[in-house]
Formats: sequence, structure tokens, C-alpha cells
Amino acid sequence: MELVIARPEGLYCPPGDFYIDPWRPVERAVITHAHGDHARTGNQRYLAAAPGEGILRSRLGQDINLQTLAYGERLDHHGVTLSFHPAGHVLGSAQVRLEYEGEVWVASGDYKVEADGTCTPFEPVPCHCFITESTFGLPIYRWQPQAQIFAGIDDWWRANAAAGRASVLFAYSFGKAQRILHGIDESIGPILVHGAVEPLNAVYREGGVRIPQTLYAGDIAKTDPLLRQALIIAPPSAAGSTWLRRFGEYSDAFASGWMLLRGTRRRRGVDRGFVLSDHADWPGLLWAIEQTGAERVMVTHGQVNVLVRHLRELGLDARGFKTEYGDEDEAEPAA
Ligand SMILES: [Zn+2]
Ligand SMILES: [Zn+2]
Repeated sequence: MELVIARPEGLYCPPGDFYIDPWRPVERAVITHAHGDHARTGNQRYLAAAPGEGILRSRLGQDINLQTLAYGERLDHHGVTLSFHPAGHVLGSAQVRLEYEGEVWVASGDYKVEADGTCTPFEPVPCHCFITESTFGLPIYRWQPQAQIFAGIDDWWRANAAAGRASVLFAYSFGKAQRILHGIDESIGPILVHGAVEPLNAVYREGGVRIPQTLYAGDIAKTDPLLRQALIIAPPSAAGSTWLRRFGEYSDAFASGWMLLRGTRRRRGVDRGFVLSDHADWPGLLWAIEQTGAERVMVTHGQVNVLVRHLRELGLDARGFKTEYGDEDEAEPAA
């Protein structure tokens, strides 16, 4: 029995008659997390993990028809038992576990296996079939421990502040920005944020995540000496915009898993690249897949073929699963 199949609207559960992260509007949408390629507007009903409610409503509209379940709480629908389990990717992110007539499938959504303090850590869920993401599914992708990355950001910020230069760090506004704010040394100087970042900071704070005090960059006068000691967190879309002029002379950096590729940083034209991803790296993907005990693995997102081949060599029944998920949280947009 196939508990999830690919349909033009998205991943579909035939016995339950619902979709997981559909990319076209449907009646019943089960949402793994609030990044734009997974949570879209226009669905009649939404079901998601409770810690993601604030983010989903702030991104899709306060009035969406949304039902939530705590992690691990079970819901029965047409004989399918559905539950959400932490994916460790961003606040509220979940894997979807489906059980029907003794068969268990888990759809991972996006996940990361290193705990970061801004969301409930990833938990492997035993299953017969695991639908895994593969955004960084190549053996070259191996992350350094995040403490080293944050230390590198702190050193860069401290050196800039000592030289009287602002530090502009580009990071995706939902997830990556809050993870950086949570991880850096706030004693170095003031922290300013772009208007796209602060509403999400507010939802994280309401969710009990420690985010240091932040100021709207727009509220600080151009002549304020504060600017030259500040760390400024801005979305990648702000790169090259006139919004940056107010900071005078500044050093800029980009935080993304893609910064592992030197060419990406060069195309971006930033001074520094910090390799920080909210997705599992190659060893993380293999560890997570092994932990599920699944004999069947369906691979979505990104580097499907290399991971499928590797899993087949390990004796697993693996294949690619065609989806329209991008990697909007960690995309590599043109400079
Ligand atoms: Zn995501
Ligand atoms: Zn994704």
C-alpha cells in the first residue's frame, strides 16, 4: 500500500485523502513547516504542528483554517493515524508520520540533525518508508560544528567594530536569522535588523526562544556612532540595495550552506561566507535515514540521484520522488 504518492497538486495520501505540503491549492493540507516552498496560501484547511502556528499565521494570514497537534499527538482520519515529530529545521518544523493497516511512512519535510536551541531537536521516527529531503545530498557537504561558525561570526564582527565598520550579515529572514541571533555573542555590540526579520523574531520570542534585543536598522540615524559597532542582519534580497547606503563603510557576509562552494561566495561578491545550514549535511542525511530503520526511501529536493544511488548500494529500496520543493530557505539566488 502506497501511503504517499506524487500528484500534480503535491504529495498525496490516498487512504487519508489529504496532501502534504501541496504546491497547488487543495482541500486538506498537512504542512511540515512555514518556508514558502512548503506552506502556500489557498488551501481550505491546514493541519500543522502546534509550535509552528504563530509563524504559519504570520506568513499565510491570521485567518487561515488551521488545526494544530502537539508533537507526538495522534489524529485519526479515514483510518490513517497521523502525528507530527520534530524535524529540527526551524521553529515548528515537523516530520509527518502516517500509519495505516500496520504500515508506517514518514515524510521528513526539511530537517537538520544538529540541535540549535531555536526549535525542538530532530527525532528519528522508525518507519517502513522514509521520504527524505536531500538539499545537500552530496558527499562534499559536511558542516563544521555550529559553535565554530558562530565563533567565526563573532570574530569578524569584533574585528569590524574595532575598526569602526558596520558588519552586515545576509541570512534568510525566517529560521537562519533567528538561529544566528540565538548563537552569537550579543555583548560585542548593538544588533540591528532589517524590517523583514523583526516580525519573525517576535514570533520566536513568543515561542520562548531566547533572541537578544534587536533594533530596527531604520530607526538609527546615519550619523549615530552606534552603527559602526553594529551587527546588521538582513535578508539576501537586501544585498546591493540602496537600503545599505545608510551604513557607510561596512563589511558584508553571507550565511548559508552554499557558502561551502567558493564560487558561490565569489558570485555573491561578499567579503565573507559563513557555512551555516538549516538542512542536514551528507553524514546527517545518512545517519537520519539509518535511524528510521526504513527499507524504502524516497528522495526529494536537490541532489536526488547521488543519494539514491548511494542508498541502493547500501541495499535499500531507494528512488527519487518528483516534487516542486525548492530550497527557498537556503536557495542560491543570483547575485
Ligand atoms: Zn525549509
Ligand atoms: Zn524545503
